[in-house]
Amino acid sequence: MLPVIALVGRPNVGKSTLFNRLTRTRDALVADFPGLTRDRKYGQADYDGYEFIVVDTGGIDGSEEGIETEMAEQSLLAIEEADIVLFLVDARAGMTAADQAIAQHLRRQEKKSFIVANKTDGIDADSSCAEFYQLALGDIHQIAAAHGRGVTQLLEATLGPIVAELAQQEDDIEQSDDSIAELYLEGEEAPEEGKSGFEDKPIKLAIIGRPNVGKSTLTNRILGEERVIVYDMPGTTRDSIYIPMTRNDREYVLIDTAGVRKRKKVSDVVEKFSVIKTLKAIEDANVILLVVDAREGISDQDLSLLGFALNSGRSLVIAVNKWDGLDNYVKERIKSELDRRLGFIDFARLHFISALHGTGVGHLFESVDEAYESATKRVSTAMLRRIMDMAQADHQPPLVRGRRVKLKYAHAGGYNPPRIVIHGNQVHDLPDSYKRYLMNYYRKALNIMGTPIKIEFREGD
Ligand code: GDP
Ligand code: GDP
Repeated sequence: MLPVIALVGRPNVGKSTLFNRLTRTRDALVADFPGLTRDRKYGQADYDGYEFIVVDTGGIDGSEEGIETEMAEQSLLAIEEADIVLFLVDARAGMTAADQAIAQHLRRQEKKSFIVANKTDGIDADSSCAEFYQLALGDIHQIAAAHGRGVTQLLEATLGPIVAELAQQEDDIEQSDDSIAELYLEGEEAPEEGKSGFEDKPIKLAIIGRPNVGKSTLTNRILGEERVIVYDMPGTTRDSIYIPMTRNDREYVLIDTAGVRKRKKVSDVVEKFSVIKTLKAIEDANVILLVVDAREGISDQDLSLLGFALNSGRSLVIAVNKWDGLDNYVKERIKSELDRRLGFIDFARLHFISALHGTGVGHLFESVDEAYESATKRVSTAMLRRIMDMAQADHQPPLVRGRRVKLKYAHAGGYNPPRIVIHGNQVHDLPDSYKRYLMNYYRKALNIMGTPIKIEFREGD
């Protein structure tokens, strides 16, 4: 369970500087997907061992009409959904009226809020920060986001207790009901040689997409199928609803971000769309089903959700919904647009469906199963090595500064998604085009579909 941090504060206090520092990724995996626009306001962070979702709420400057204006709505929702709020102030500029307005709003909310005084570098921090005690939100945490100073201590003091609490909650779930806990807590061990982890665990399938693409309709359609047996699962949080189900003797847990099962009647208000809920669902899923709307085309919002799915390394299936009642000309036009905007994702299966009429919905599960099987497939070192040698023989790596890059050895680095570690000389200088070539070579040779493959390069033997 990932905790959520919301960053609030008036413009120019350093929110995006802190955001960037927290989300800056340090891993050297081949995971760049050209053509992707990123939503910079939501990020998955791994900082000093702390994993969390961070939201730069951006929108609040305290001057909005009662703050509750439409413009600030997503920001307010983010605050509501956050575990903690870091309220940034500028130690150099001193306290402003906007700071006081924001503080007043936060004090009314029953939310753990902390004052973070930024830009404390090169000034007498203690005396500059003293006035912020008037905001009546407790201790002042001093940082210099631009230099990273105080950031670890900040997380320890603010997020540390939450992390401990969440771990305790997970323990409680485990103790209260083993069978339910099984659905949440996934064992990390790899399956036996030659097998996939496929047989024994329910596949957690998150249905995500922006508002109105048809997530609820699709979820209801799936749950209404004759072959589907749905179990009742008690206890929910503010998060997505988990719906255990069996289909063709295979177990799944639908992670319902649209809140279908929470609604008593079809006419009940539709759940508010929430990016945080979606991010958490992605994090917890084995396979992500991204729903897009054929009639609306691919929007930037679709691409940011897609970006999160890709970043998470989860398996992915894409459903292009509302494919009913379109004439052939329009269908062709939509297909070429999808190709143009999504062509860079070569591993995910694309399905054209109508959630309303049920067309194509059953086939989705073929791809979901395939994606999960691919992600958990166990491959031997000998096999990985052989494929590497074949790829190198078919198309040798380029010369870099007059010397040929040489791949020497490969082994498995993990599953879910499959990770392959390749050792060799000058491997860090391999151009992206060759990295992509290797990735596609492995994909074809291992028949892996629906999941990204990550290749990690290490210098030397
Ligand atoms: P935002 O509008 O709250 O997202 O603020 P930004 O992150 O864009 O920062 C506003 C300005 O403050 C930029 O010019 C940053 O370089 C500067 N800034 C951010 N953090 C620090 C810091 O720790 N020390 C100093 N001296 N400047 C900072
Ligand atoms: P959500 O916000 O993603 O859960 O979207 P809904 O499931 O509430 O659907 C939004 C609207 O799209 C509703 O009016 C649905 O009836 C309609 N809709 C959903 N799926 C389809 C479909 O396959 N074809 C058509 N024509 N309309 C659909």
